[in-house]
Amino acid sequence: MFNKSLIEKFQTIETPFYYYDLDILNRTIADVKAESEKHNFNIHYALKANTNQQILKIICNAGFGADCVSGNEVKAALRNQFVTESIVFAGVGKTDKEIIESLTADIFCFNCESIEEIKVINQLAASLNKKARIALRINPNVNANTHHYITTGLEENKFGINFWELEAVMEVIKNSPNIQLIGLHFHIGSQICDLEPFRLLCTRVNEIQQWFSSRNISITHLNLGGGLGVDYHEPDKNAIPNFKSYFAVFHKFLEIKKNQQVHFELGRSMVAQCGSLISKVLFVKEGKKTNFIILDAGMTELIRPALYQSYHKIENLTADFFSTNINTNETKYDVVGPICESSDCFAKALLLPASERGHLFAIRTTGAYGQVMSLEYNLREKAPSIYSDSI
Ligand SMILES: *Cc1c(COP(=O)(O)O)cnc(C)c1O
Repeated sequence: MFNKSLIEKFQTIETPFYYYDLDILNRTIADVKAESEKHNFNIHYALKANTNQQILKIICNAGFGADCVSGNEVKAALRNQFVTESIVFAGVGKTDKEIIESLTADIFCFNCESIEEIKVINQLAASLNKKARIALRINPNVNANTHHYITTGLEENKFGINFWELEAVMEVIKNSPNIQLIGLHFHIGSQICDLEPFRLLCTRVNEIQQWFSSRNISITHLNLGGGLGVDYHEPDKNAIPNFKSYFAVFHKFLEIKKNQQVHFELGRSMVAQCGSLISKVLFVKEGKKTNFIILDAGMTELIRPALYQSYHKIENLTADFFSTNINTNETKYDVVGPICESSDCFAKALLLPASERGHLFAIRTTGAYGQVMSLEYNLREKAPSIYSDSI
């Protein structure tokens, strides 16, 4: 991803900024496309992972659909020329305004998460003289074995409709003339690296499908969500996630009926590895147990470590590429940001080459849920995006 001349260019740019390697993005997208097409699977990109226009443009041009979780994301998808018939709108709390705008735009499908939501969409669709296509987001009660903040498919989570509610849901749908049930939707969580939860999901979906077919309810779309994890520890070795084995699990274990189309909503796995947060060392400060490296980027630019205790690989680019010091003794540092919060810490007791004020750092694998989650807390300015094709 990096080389000497690129880092020399970085030295002329005000930090912090997000750097996007479009070559990695393009190779990732090409792989998703090739592997999903083998099985005729439809891919929707989960916009919430990264909504940079240039990234949206590349993903849209590759022919993927859009998975949105807010009205503004639906608008962003439309503005960036995603095909209207490929836009799905998910989320546990859609406002009336968001529903009306999406109905007016004639998006492909609403992924519905409660009985009350179905009733409201029916009413709003009636007032607009429209028929809303919906998929039921069903809680499969499959444990994704990922961080509890990004586990979404358990009965204790706020997401989805539980299996025991289905009878009541179907009763409501029967009495909702402006609702057309077309699909079932599932999403068990994010950053799932072990494929076993996806196999369990398939088994569960097969059972749930039986519930519908035994009642002669036709389901034409199955949406299995996203969730494939990326390698935060070895971003260079495993820059492209193993889409082949991911899709193979669904091909092998999911019972797909003749008239059914299968959809996936990939976010993180498509964009995480192409992004790095580039930051400069402001100060190095001696601590009691370890020394502190204080960067000019903090939790306001990248909140994942503070929010999910997540690991990101951290590299001292200046030392790695320019150090003439043969004595490359590594030292233990806590790498922290400038924000007035003790949770503003990227890594504790990390072994790094001797670091100094002015050294450039890269925090890797930050293309997903990085820049999009940035905050203005402490009146911070938004870190800009720099793309590999324009530097
Ligand atoms: C966040 C989300 C996704 C994307 O998940 P990734 O783990 O980033 O692939 C897909 N579907 C739904 C409903 C989501 O909430």
